Amino acid sequence: MKDAIIVGYGPAGISAAIYLKRQGVEPLVIGKDLGALEGYDDKVENFYGLVEPIYGKDLIRNGIKQAQNLGIEVITDAVISLKMQGDIFEVITTQEHYETKTVLLATGKTRRTMSRQGFSKYRGKGISMCATCDGFFYRRKKVGIIGCGPYMLHELEYLKKMTKDIIVFTDGHVLHGEVDVPVVHDKILKFCGTEKLTHVETSTGKVELDGMFVALGVPSSVEFASQLGVIIEKNNIVVNDHYMTNIPGLFAAGDVIGGKLQIAKAVYDGMNAADAIYNYNHKK
Ligand SMILES: Cc1cc2nc3c(=O)[nH]c(=O)nc-3n(C[C@H](O)[C@H](O)[C@H](O)COP(=O)(O)OP(=O)(O)OC[C@H]3O[C@@H](n4cnc5c(N)ncnc54)[C@H](O)[C@@H]3O)c2cc1C
Repeated sequence: MKDAIIVGYGPAGISAAIYLKRQGVEPLVIGKDLGALEGYDDKVENFYGLVEPIYGKDLIRNGIKQAQNLGIEVITDAVISLKMQGDIFEVITTQEHYETKTVLLATGKTRRTMSRQGFSKYRGKGISMCATCDGFFYRRKKVGIIGCGPYMLHELEYLKKMTKDIIVFTDGHVLHGEVDVPVVHDKILKFCGTEKLTHVETSTGKVELDGMFVALGVPSSVEFASQLGVIIEKNNIVVNDHYMTNIPGLFAAGDVIGGKLQIAKAVYDGMNAADAIYNYNHKK
């Protein structure tokens, strides 16, 4: 059992890890990539102490190295689900299951989308990003699920409790894992309907559906958080003055809570969240 798991090794997550470590807490940090600066090939120059501008990716890699040098456990993996058993959290990654008393979501801003005709029009009108949140509305209906990896398999298991009529759409990708429902391997070209989604067009035909769940890649923390009933406003996780969500023990910091989307603010959030997590664990 861990005292704290931090999801995200960007400025917010690493800053929280450093401050927790200095207070004697041993956090586990899990990240999957370099976050907001992953695809950024330019330099950052507006952060304190940079005598020379630094490539954004190098700044993030330095942060991870700094945490590791302090003896903090940092692993690369993607979190695909977050559950609660009593007041213990279960963090499920593509490789492992971890138990922890507290979780800090420092997962940055992600807006998962599909650049396909009709996607934005039917999002929320037949297209859902969260089986746990919306699966209930599709009981005994015909649904599709788009994805090809562990996250899709996880969401599929949940959907099976709601309906038997499920089709997996790999959208042209290789399916990793085995499924016992029909699979459409063609690329999806278009989401179609009237007021609500009624069907999709693929490269080889038309498939009628009542709903479509998107489980591509890995979920954003807004998606994990909504599974647990966390309050979300305008795609930001809502936290109190102590960086805690409405779920006791679940904290969030950095871009994921909104405000100024800047490194300095993410580092500040991480520091404050670390204090809050320390106090929470020591009050129990
Ligand atoms: C192109 C660009 C340029 C920018 N330039 C500047 C600049 O010059 N100066 C500045 O101050 N700010 C800049 N920013 C903003 C800055 O990068 C962000 O504000 C900052 O990185 C936010 O830190 P964070 O820790 O909240 O999130 P991020 O840095 O986005 O880190 C998120 C972390 O969460 C992890 N994660 C997400 N989902 C999962 C999951 N399911 N499982 C495991 N891990 C997960 C990611 O792998 C990553 O480690 C820029 C942003 C962009 C996009």
